[in-house]
Amino acid sequence: MKLPALFKSFILLGVLASASVASLSAQSAFSSDPVAYYTELLAAYNNDPVQAMQVADPAYAAILDEPRLIEVFGAERQWMTEGDKLQLKQAGLAFMDVTDFEDIEVDRSFVRAEKSQAWPEIQRQDQVNKVISLLSVDTMREDLVTLTSFYNRFYRSDYGVKSSRWIFDQVLQIVASAPPSTRLSIETFTHSFPQSSIIARFEPSGGRSSPSPKHPRDVLPRIILGAHQDSSNYKFPMFPAPGADDDGSGTVTILAAFRALVEAGFTPAAPVEFHWYAAEEGGLLGSQEVVKEYVALEKKVGAMIQFDMTAYVDPRSEPGVTLMTTDVHPSLTNWTLSLVPEYCSLSQKEGKLWPNAGSDHMSWHRAGFPAVFAAEGDPDKDEFDPWVHTVNDTMYLDEFSFEHALEFAKLAVGFAVELGGWTD
Ligand SMILES: [Zn+2]
Repeated sequence: MKLPALFKSFILLGVLASASVASLSAQSAFSSDPVAYYTELLAAYNNDPVQAMQVADPAYAAILDEPRLIEVFGAERQWMTEGDKLQLKQAGLAFMDVTDFEDIEVDRSFVRAEKSQAWPEIQRQDQVNKVISLLSVDTMREDLVTLTSFYNRFYRSDYGVKSSRWIFDQVLQIVASAPPSTRLSIETFTHSFPQSSIIARFEPSGGRSSPSPKHPRDVLPRIILGAHQDSSNYKFPMFPAPGADDDGSGTVTILAAFRALVEAGFTPAAPVEFHWYAAEEGGLLGSQEVVKEYVALEKKVGAMIQFDMTAYVDPRSEPGVTLMTTDVHPSLTNWTLSLVPEYCSLSQKEGKLWPNAGSDHMSWHRAGFPAVFAAEGDPDKDEFDPWVHTVNDTMYLDEFSFEHALEFAKLAVGFAVELGGWTD
């Protein structure tokens, strides 16, 4: 399937740009009102983000001609350029940038083992409910107030670097207050772009999960809970992008689960990791780099769950905890759905993520690891927040509910404890 031809014509439009741009580069105009400044700049270039970026960020503009291998969700992979990615975003198309990840060996053996794959019986109600009682909606709200106060969290911007550092600092504070018996690691996973992914890990009680000279290979499969920390305004990356729902909500959802697990002194039998991915909006770049390294180091991954958008409640629909059934591991999805009546106050729902959307679980899924995706509603029924990727993705919408996001934090706790185990 070929890509729509319309975005190619955007490139030509840029040629028609007017000459009035010189006056726009005045620094005072930018600092007094960046939105007005960039609006005018874009207008001067007929909304062509590539041309506008030449003025807005010459360093970024310098790489916009570089070839990138792009897989728009639902279409064949195709060679484009870094600049084309900005055009795709403006056209509202989501994609994976697989340029640096072509050689990840795709192992589909788990699909063949699907029928015999056994997920554990749900049996840790006492422990899970104890952790759930420690979850706090107020703390989730406080976290999101700060997270959305960054002008944007674009993965190439200084704002995106600062917001990443803020997440690291929150994780560090949580770890600093951990009971002495918990064994925790924090990692700043740096990338080829400025924003870093953050990884926090409950080390398994029986030993360290990291490869060591004594134990060069991982023995225990990791359990991973993920969300993406970056945000992006699809019209132009220099615009504000509060990203309250996408994916500030998922970010604070798993941060809440992590905080409660630490406070409860969680000591899993298997390594349990929390991942805050950089550059999801750049084409799943952060998660793909993490997957690539895990594959290269032969780290085992038992299960992965992504939380991307957890707080918007579509007013026309019955609220629920939705698991996608597309591009995911089917039996792990069914097992995860069975956690919902056990631990959540809402009923379980299924959703279809098709055709033009995706999130970081797909990086794991494509590499052959069992991965699932939990979100606020069924996109196939238009239940997703319609304001994502704009300046209006805020937590002040009537439909934005921290109580709804809390249900996903409960699910995260259930997923971590039931799969990771808990040793005394
Ligand atoms: Zn997202």
